[in-house]
Amino acid sequence: MKMPDRRGYFGAFGGRFVPETLIPALQALEREFAEARRNRRFQAELRDYLHNYAGRPTALTFASELTRFLGGAMVYLKREDLAFTGAHKINNCLGQVLLARKMGKRRVIAETGAGQHGVATATVAAKFGLECVIYMGEEDMNRQALNVFRMELLGATVIPVRSGSRTLKDAIDEAMRDWVTHVGDTHYVLGTVTGPHPYPLMVREFQRVIGKEAKRQILRAAGRLPDCLIACVGGGSNAIGLFYDFLPHRAVRMVGVEAGGLGVKSGKHAARFDGGRPGIFHGSLSYVIQDAAGQVRTTHSVSAGLDYAGVGPEHSYLQQSGRVKYASVTDREAVEGFRLLSETEGIIPALETAHAVAYARKAIPRMRKNQLVIINISGRGDKDVETVKGIIKART
Ligand SMILES: *Cc1c(COP(=O)(O)O)cnc(C)c1O
Repeated sequence: MKMPDRRGYFGAFGGRFVPETLIPALQALEREFAEARRNRRFQAELRDYLHNYAGRPTALTFASELTRFLGGAMVYLKREDLAFTGAHKINNCLGQVLLARKMGKRRVIAETGAGQHGVATATVAAKFGLECVIYMGEEDMNRQALNVFRMELLGATVIPVRSGSRTLKDAIDEAMRDWVTHVGDTHYVLGTVTGPHPYPLMVREFQRVIGKEAKRQILRAAGRLPDCLIACVGGGSNAIGLFYDFLPHRAVRMVGVEAGGLGVKSGKHAARFDGGRPGIFHGSLSYVIQDAAGQVRTTHSVSAGLDYAGVGPEHSYLQQSGRVKYASVTDREAVEGFRLLSETEGIIPALETAHAVAYARKAIPRMRKNQLVIINISGRGDKDVETVKGIIKART
């Protein structure tokens, strides 16, 4: 069974729900991507940049102290925090920008929430000499002033978005609008496995390097496949990147961890599977947090990267088929996870990543000592140190 099908559907989810003017651009992108996938020179060039520019392969670290502390399964960490610019986002940006260059585009645009995807896009655009425009909600620009300056240092123009809640959702709306008007010379570097076909497929393929490496590394380190994989899910790119190459191995369990915010019952969360239902949002059909009338609701999470009403359509399919389990942890639990990994392993994770750690903290003590778990450490936490400091101070 090949996913997605030719129309971009993963089971009942996915598709291409966009203004008519974007259809030719999406079709051209689909063709170019299909060609690039088969093109040995393109693949060799991408591999070279991933290795010599982004620092891949990233390590798979045995978390001896976290394992001891939790007293259950043996824990390994896939270290995307060690990738250049501090998260997995660079894998996708390198792939898409190489593709944009191949298509003769001279300008790239992107949306960003916390700024991580904006920084990764601006970085690669600088390297390839492309004009770069980043759309960012005004609210997020205030919260992430340092990342705004980083993008500007890299030569990008950061455009504040003042509509709606002035956050990620509005930045995506604005990036789409830009793309509609400049589709001739511009490529839209979407940051995760959401959006219209072929983005969920394309971004998954660029992030699969995480799981391919992890599989090779765990076989070398432990001599067998893991029993369980754990990753946080915003749009879902780091999770599907780790999961995908393990999917055929039915004995490998997988858990995607969403942002439970102040608790799903409070209504202030971003748990799409617990608190949402299927709907069309930002170009595809997938689980969305919406009100009774189908209006997309504002979400809440302590981590900007998980604070989004939609989720990639492939995750909706994997949830419905039961192959992957989805859970959520609260802001409070995530902050505990943030401290736990810092104290036990000396690794300060991103707050997004801390959600995966927080889930692991609950699940691993119930597992057997001879079982193996891989947690995807999607990014490093430098950007979140101020936020966590504020939270800890407020409590004491
Ligand atoms: C952007 C980001 C995420 C969330 O995005 P996904 O597409 O779900 O991976 C998670 N972790 C980090 C560190 C991020 O920067």
